[in-house]
Amino acid sequence: MRSITFFSGNTRLGKFCIDHTRVWFYIEDMTCEYRDVQKIYKALETTDGAGVRILRSVGSPGLSYVDPFLLLDEFISDDPNDYIAGFPPHPHRGFETVTYMINGLMRHEDSEGNRGQLGSGGIQWMTAGRGVIHSEMPLQEAGLMHGFQLWVNLPAADKMMAPRYQNIDSTDIPVVKSAGCEVKVIAGRFNETAGPVSGIVTDPLYLDVKLNPGVDLEFPYTENHTLLAYVFEGQGRFGNTESKEIERGNIVVFSDKGSLLVKASNQGIRFLLLGAKPLNEPIFRSGPFVMNTREEIEKAYMDFR
Ligand code: FE
Repeated sequence: MRSITFFSGNTRLGKFCIDHTRVWFYIEDMTCEYRDVQKIYKALETTDGAGVRILRSVGSPGLSYVDPFLLLDEFISDDPNDYIAGFPPHPHRGFETVTYMINGLMRHEDSEGNRGQLGSGGIQWMTAGRGVIHSEMPLQEAGLMHGFQLWVNLPAADKMMAPRYQNIDSTDIPVVKSAGCEVKVIAGRFNETAGPVSGIVTDPLYLDVKLNPGVDLEFPYTENHTLLAYVFEGQGRFGNTESKEIERGNIVVFSDKGSLLVKASNQGIRFLLLGAKPLNEPIFRSGPFVMNTREEIEKAYMDFR
């Protein structure tokens, strides 16, 4: 079936559909709102830790903060020299770090004696709270190393909470499959399926979405939360169908209300879909610390020393 969708602004009016046997037009529910593309930003190549090569989208000069998201890095390489030195011991305070491995492993150790290894397809949601000093060492598996790190801010009331880890294996992440569409639900909900990450104050959505060539997806996201999509394979269109094709390595920031429409190109598309409740608080960030005021940052450095 082929279809053309008609819009007025970001409100969808109707759909004109053709298949082998018939042609029809139907009128949509006029109250249904869809999100617009507000900003498209190409991730910048940079290095962090002890020289790990990364693609940084959120947290770059042109997209420093998308409340409550502080940073999004993609690390992808088949050359161990790009990441072997890893992220030696460093502190965090005032936010959460979320590591998702597509391929390869991440060895993790902290100053409290917690240690573990995140495997391919697994996720670690670490709430740094009042402070964690840890090391993160990426390792390849079958010659591949590909993953993401996301930083999610904490509200003032929770910045000094006790640190907490949620380590989730790939086998515990539900995968929702329908015609031409495969969605890994890490946090939040997709249709009736809830992800395993729980009890996070910003009520996050974290989906890994794969669409086959030409497939449409309509994702009803009723929360008035921040919503981002980071494309890491193929390309496709977001928002209304007149929008341009977004290629891998780009992040899309959406308007703050309504459902999301995606159409995969003829190469298909895979992207992270990230949502969360904005905090609407002042932020003061410096390196590995994110607080609300300069005084709190000075205190964080003092406590670390
Ligand atoms: Fe870290």
